[in-house]
Amino acid sequence: MTLEEKLKILADSAKYDASCSSSGSTRKNEGGIGNAAYSGICHSFASDGRCISLLKILMTNCCILDCKYCINRVSNNVKRAMFTPEEICSITMNFYRRNYIEGLFLSSGIIKSPDYTMELLIKTIKLLRTKYHFHGYIHCKAIPGASAHLLKELGSLVDRLSANIELPTDNGLKLLAPNKDSNKVTKIMSYVKENRNKSYVPAGQSTQMIIGATKETDRDIMRRSESLYKTYDLKRVFYSAYIPVNKDKMLPSLASPPLVRENRLYQADWLLRFYGFKVDDLLDEENPNFNILMDPKANWALRHLNEFPKEINSASYYDLLKVPGIGIKSAQRIIACRKNFKITFNDLKKMGIVLKRAKYFITCNGRYFINSEYFKKSFIEANLILEDNKVVENKKEQLSLFS
Ligand code: SF4
Repeated sequence: MTLEEKLKILADSAKYDASCSSSGSTRKNEGGIGNAAYSGICHSFASDGRCISLLKILMTNCCILDCKYCINRVSNNVKRAMFTPEEICSITMNFYRRNYIEGLFLSSGIIKSPDYTMELLIKTIKLLRTKYHFHGYIHCKAIPGASAHLLKELGSLVDRLSANIELPTDNGLKLLAPNKDSNKVTKIMSYVKENRNKSYVPAGQSTQMIIGATKETDRDIMRRSESLYKTYDLKRVFYSAYIPVNKDKMLPSLASPPLVRENRLYQADWLLRFYGFKVDDLLDEENPNFNILMDPKANWALRHLNEFPKEINSASYYDLLKVPGIGIKSAQRIIACRKNFKITFNDLKKMGIVLKRAKYFITCNGRYFINSEYFKKSFIEANLILEDNKVVENKKEQLSLFS
């Protein structure tokens, strides 16, 4: 098998890992420099917010396990391939020198045993760091069940490590991946948390959960994320909409992957990490799932309309952050400006604050942007859903916002 054939198989097999998303670009080189169409190039974000291109591949798609949702499971009849450590180094350096990539995202199916697989991953990355002097970004998957001394060595070679929790609950894991043990995953997370420093996993750790393959509610999923962030100091939990690739009676039959749900979970995750929300603020027993039709913050605001409107000239920073459409930068800008003058709606526009959603939930100097008689759940909900879903055809039919 040629290197190019292997690359095609092993980049394609890696695309189900959501920890960095595939560029999916098919743009051709028409005489210039660079080509976006190479297999396995995806984008990820560095801790400083910079977007970086990574070569995203599996070392092998052979695996001794049989996770029901996975295309690479041992019982599937798919074309298998395996890179040698030298081959991975050669592709990485080649792509790096041509400026296609700035780093590597390396994962693998489990061959022979967790230790054997980890040893091969270590061998590859060590070669890349020492023989080829590659100092670019490397994100590697740790193999649950591998020995602590291997985890120690791998963590000292890479920037980011991740161990996938795979399914939001242990029951889900038992159902679809009975050979996996979530304790082995959290053991890795504990070890990384305890030992992380400038030279050990400096970019921190992350994990991934598959959404929609089992019956957990959004509340179950977000509670698991909240606990993972708190307990193991994770940088990110990635949510991956379940893509039906196998037939199995234990798997749900979905017409298409739950991508909107995945997006709502990412939005809620953002609220947990940066906006001071708790899962119990967003969801409860009566409402265990996010409203697919609007973003979680707008949905929360509608359910807590008694806490609004927020007065732009006096609300606290965290109260401003609760306003749908007002983000961290906007809240900071408002706080800075109102030290100098009383802010009006026109000032907000001049400050670049988008009022599309915020206008329903705020006052400036005691005045509503909308006519105060429209400060009603039904009216705001209908308009938010229209705007969120970009249904503009019947805009003319909408009630006027302005008196
Ligand atoms: S261990 Fe990973 S590669 Fe192997 S079957 Fe399970 S999910 Fe797939």
